[in-house]
Amino acid sequence: MNARKIRKIGVIGAGTMGGGIAQVFALHGYQVTLVDIDETVLKAALGRIKEHTRPELWDKVSGMIATTTDMADVKEADLVVEAVLEDMAVKKKVFKALSGICRKDAIIATNTSALSVNELARSVDNPARFAGMHFMNPPKVMLLVEVIKGDETSGETVAAVMEAAGSIEKVTALTNDSPGFISNRLLFALIGEALRLLESGAAKKEDIDIVMKFGMNHPMGPIELADFIGLDVCKEIMTTLYDGLKDERYKPTAMLDALVKEGKLGRKTKEGFYRYA
Ligand code: NAD
Repeated sequence: MNARKIRKIGVIGAGTMGGGIAQVFALHGYQVTLVDIDETVLKAALGRIKEHTRPELWDKVSGMIATTTDMADVKEADLVVEAVLEDMAVKKKVFKALSGICRKDAIIATNTSALSVNELARSVDNPARFAGMHFMNPPKVMLLVEVIKGDETSGETVAAVMEAAGSIEKVTALTNDSPGFISNRLLFALIGEALRLLESGAAKKEDIDIVMKFGMNHPMGPIELADFIGLDVCKEIMTTLYDGLKDERYKPTAMLDALVKEGKLGRKTKEGFYRYA
């Protein structure tokens, strides 16, 4: 199938990541349809996008983003980026639905942090047009897009996803499918170790974060970063890594489990390991 120029973007899920992904594409002149099941989430996403857009660009950006609760509105999209919950069953349902909605030559991409792209690809009609397009948080600021090639992803699809990422001024890294890909396999080795250090009582969270910020020049310490990512998302990512690699260092820790159970999910709920005003 011939490559089709990517002009229209669908983004499914308007939470922490989906809103930011929509913003970046809109800033670069793409028409974006942003979908969520929850109308209030869509409103909040637009509010956040406005807050993080230079005022003189707001008319242009807002004119490029349509919000909707009806996934069928992405039927004209050339590229759809899925950014719903990190849950295999929820994502598979979305991909099944998208297969019935999207153009046959559309590319469907997942922003999953760690779930198997090969497994997710089983839910689409055409796995050759399916890939991972993993943005970092926040999408507007972070330059990396990790591109994940599934076993059946075509070379043409990889090239189109890389080109689309380049056109919004992102730097790409390409990887085959494996648990956590490159980014989260490395990152969660650090976050997991930081959490175990904290839980062992050897050091306070503030000191662990200070060491990585001021000793290693990380912009955020690993525990602050876990809060920033979302502790529910962290737990899902660690579970996927632990199940896939059978490596104890990725096992979700007791404190992480407890905070998630209490609904203290980090910055997005104003409390996680730290409290936020
Ligand atoms: P989030 O919980 O902030 O947002 C998920 C959104 O999906 C919610 O608004 C929810 O209403 C919506 N949703 C759920 N089911 C839906 C459906 N069927 N149709 C449309 N919308 C639906 O989650 P997030 O942090 O934005 O993460 C989204 C994805 O991005 C996950 O796969 C996550 O692993 C990945 N990711 C997250 C980060 C991060 O730092 N948070 C970074 C990179 C990748």
